[in-house]
Amino acid sequence: MARYIGPSCRQCRRIGEKLFLKGKRCYSDKCAIDRKRLEPGASKGHRRKKLSDYGMQLIEKQKVKKIYGLLEKQFHSYYVKAAAMPGVTGHSLLGFLEKRLDNVLFRAGFAVSRTQSRQFVRHGQVTVNGKKVNIPSFQVRVGDVVMIKDKFRQCQALLDAVGISKGREVPEWMRTELEQGRVTIAREPQRSDIGANINESTVVEFYSK
Ligand code: SF4
Repeated sequence: MARYIGPSCRQCRRIGEKLFLKGKRCYSDKCAIDRKRLEPGASKGHRRKKLSDYGMQLIEKQKVKKIYGLLEKQFHSYYVKAAAMPGVTGHSLLGFLEKRLDNVLFRAGFAVSRTQSRQFVRHGQVTVNGKKVNIPSFQVRVGDVVMIKDKFRQCQALLDAVGISKGREVPEWMRTELEQGRVTIAREPQRSDIGANINESTVVEFYSK
């Protein structure tokens, strides 16, 4: 699956918000947003001009897409699936994004960023219900048990990631046992579990035009 490989901080600067794409750096004083850098290519004193409704919807859609590290085609396909489901489309959309295997690992505290958790999955370090799954977009279900492979549990990259992620809030829809390298999906994610500053109805408005 194709993915964005440009500079992470540039993406935050484009959106004008912290998207937490780089792990440890995002919580340090090196964060480009905290240092109030300007938009890429902008000169000193540049101010973002007032956006139209369409502009705001576009920015919000881009923001959510970047938070989960997806390109347009895949992100739009989640919207299409969500729109076909009963219930609130925006909530279904977030549900699909949250239940991605790479997101589960990140949320559980086994990776400092979704980019890193995707790498762990791609490299075959994760099992779901005892079977190796190397597809980051794999959708977990209630009752699934996600495990970090035994050998990889001693890997320095993983140990560092767990150390850095300690203290980050783990959502209630999953039960994490960090020492055992295990996450159990306890229930479906609810809107209230998703702490990120996301306005999903704006994203739905963008696509439903
Ligand atoms: Fe975004 Fe993290 Fe870079 Fe800050 S450090 S601009 S939050 S990617």
